[in-house]
Amino acid sequence: MQKIVFDHVTKYFGTHKAVNDAHFTINEGEFFTLLGPSGCGKTTLLRTIAGFYRQEEGDIYFGDKLINDVPTHQRNIGMVFQNYAIFPHMTVFENVCYGLKARSVPKKEMEQRAMEALEMVQLTHLRDRVPSDMSGGQQQRIALARAIVIRPGLLLMDEPLSNLDAKLRVKMRSDIRRLQKELNITTIYVTHDQEEALAVSDRIAVMSEGVIQQIASPEDIYSYPANKFVSNFIGTSNFLEGHCTGYNEAAQEASMRLLETQWSQKLSRPYEGKVLFSLRPERIRLRGDEPGERLVRGTIDSVTFLGEKVSYAVRLSNDSVIEIQEHAIEPHRMRKAHQTVYVDLQLDKATLFDESGKEVLY
Ligand code: ATP
Repeated sequence: MQKIVFDHVTKYFGTHKAVNDAHFTINEGEFFTLLGPSGCGKTTLLRTIAGFYRQEEGDIYFGDKLINDVPTHQRNIGMVFQNYAIFPHMTVFENVCYGLKARSVPKKEMEQRAMEALEMVQLTHLRDRVPSDMSGGQQQRIALARAIVIRPGLLLMDEPLSNLDAKLRVKMRSDIRRLQKELNITTIYVTHDQEEALAVSDRIAVMSEGVIQQIASPEDIYSYPANKFVSNFIGTSNFLEGHCTGYNEAAQEASMRLLETQWSQKLSRPYEGKVLFSLRPERIRLRGDEPGERLVRGTIDSVTFLGEKVSYAVRLSNDSVIEIQEHAIEPHRMRKAHQTVYVDLQLDKATLFDESGKEVLY
């Protein structure tokens, strides 16, 4: 268990910055996830930590130790990848012993540790089987046992669940989370699946085009996205354009206009011009068919029943369409397409960005 420090790390491929100035610390025992769309640089950053790549700029520390020039096999890392990377001709037990053999661990201790690791991933009953006739989930458990049996200071996982079906993914992710907490191993987990990241992580780093956009807990990433990219990538967001004028220095607020409503709003810095509101579908409220203070008028374009939730596409007076979600407790009370509705946008629960979407104004 150790902390990992990235001190202005940049990794180039030719002139392309695959990782651009990564500067952050992962805490001891933390489950830390690198999340972002394909090609954003997550795997490159992970491979740099593993020592498969050498960064061109910056330093990486494990604890207080600078590891820039330490080869992979001396970094004390356990790794689990998407494609299992286990030996098909060896038994489950032999697979798990492999790393211990390479480290010349005495036979008795090796057997004991391998059995412990197999117990943790609930595979002791399959110890003498070969992996080739086992399921994807079981094979990934072998890979996990093999990674933890060496008692690594750091566990790296790159999309470990993406070859598994949806149900098994959910089961495996909670098993991984439980195991990681039990063993208290600092873990870096790569995924492009936001739901997976929200479910397992202590903290998440959201990446785009090589740049870390935000690092925060799952709850904060969801509720307080740092910019439009994060707001759009995590969960569903409705973006509505408003206008802000007459910034008042003393009160630190400005006049805000959005659709047919107008009000004064505090801002984190002086600003006038176009603004962008980001609203989560479940934080918007559909009211009745009567107008009211701060309500905006809309028409239901379509209704999608999602089981426990119902999703409405609502067209507002400026012709933009927003998604609103409600619990479908009483399906007979669901609203119907073409119905006129009044909507409480609950703007105090929205995130307010500047026109470019790069900066939070409130
Ligand atoms: P994915 O989820 O698809 O694996 P990723 O976020 O892990 O994507 P990386 O594989 O780290 O992204 O790639 C980041 C960028 O660096 C991409 O533009 C990719 O094309 C480029 N890249 C990655 N590996 C190499 C390489 N060996 N040589 C040249 N360019 C590379």
